[in-house]
Amino acid sequence: MAGIYIHVPFCKQKCTYCDFASYPKELSKQESYFACLYRELKGRALSLKDRTFDTVYFGGGTPSIVSPELIVGAIRQVKNCFNLNPNAEITIEINPGTVDEEKIKAYKKAGINRFSIGLQSAYDHHLKNINRAHTALDFVKCMNMIKGENVSVDILIGLKGQTLEEVLKSLELALTLGANHISCYALTPEEGTPIYTDYLNGELLSEDEVADIYEKVVNYLKENGLNRYEVSNFAKPGFESKHNITYWTRGEYIGVGVSASSLIENRRFTNTFSINEYINTIIANKLPEISSETLSKEDEMFETVMLGLRMEKGFSLEKFKADFGVDFNEVYASVLQKNKEYLQEKDGYLSVKPECMYIENGIIVDFMKG
Ligand code: SF4
Repeated sequence: MAGIYIHVPFCKQKCTYCDFASYPKELSKQESYFACLYRELKGRALSLKDRTFDTVYFGGGTPSIVSPELIVGAIRQVKNCFNLNPNAEITIEINPGTVDEEKIKAYKKAGINRFSIGLQSAYDHHLKNINRAHTALDFVKCMNMIKGENVSVDILIGLKGQTLEEVLKSLELALTLGANHISCYALTPEEGTPIYTDYLNGELLSEDEVADIYEKVVNYLKENGLNRYEVSNFAKPGFESKHNITYWTRGEYIGVGVSASSLIENRRFTNTFSINEYINTIIANKLPEISSETLSKEDEMFETVMLGLRMEKGFSLEKFKADFGVDFNEVYASVLQKNKEYLQEKDGYLSVKPECMYIENGIIVDFMKG
């Protein structure tokens, strides 16, 4: 599988935990930004004519904040320039409170068939604390607008004063309103974000508290028919995100727009994080990349392990051998020995035991050291 990622770097306001490339005061640049996106799509497609792409993902930022015509135009451009699978999964991230019936209608007409809604919590005091630009009621209205569609909802664990009951009630609301996919992330306070101060002051939930809630979330979602297929992602059968699976299985992807990364063959490259620089570079007919690296065989092997172990299913040992010409068990013999109580081999796949999934980060660090 191969995917196309389109970054939309505009937001209404900045959430306190956010370190993504999102710029609340730049919305007036949306027209010129999208004109550049269309040009980048066209330019990138020239060397990718031999590939078929299976997914398109509008992420951000808040893609739903811009005029729907711009999103529709980007889909048209993708279809004009790339070989897009006619059954492609096309996802848009939505921030409740930035959509109306007209926008949803335009998205659906253009072929968007998956909606990823950022709720984070169904409690307004938490939403306010983290400076989300919507209320729980906005979420309910948004879900009613996309009733019957393929919907994923994001929930955060670890907020200041958050209780297990609040997390489960937030999930319950999402499921009752029709979500068939949940992304449930543990809050990671990044240095430089406002929430980092709360973290330093010990005001956020502790790692153990988050781990306890996570375990209950896994059980709750399972009881409600959503299986964990990646450490933070849960879906009803058949509703897993094809786009994200492409990342975790090291499929190829092209990313356009500010801060977007691509992986084509064994080259990874990333665009500038500055909107102005992006626009100026594209207008000057230059590539907006700020970094590009050719991955060595060792890099690729490690990435296969790192990403594969995030998935419940793990990764195929046979494919590993076919791709890299070496036996996984021999290359990583000592790390395997050290972590044998956490790992399992099943049907030719190596994976983290389900009960150890929450500590998979620690296991990966061992693989990194080799
Ligand atoms: S809506 Fe998303 S991208 Fe925008 S500020 Fe909040 S977390 Fe960041």
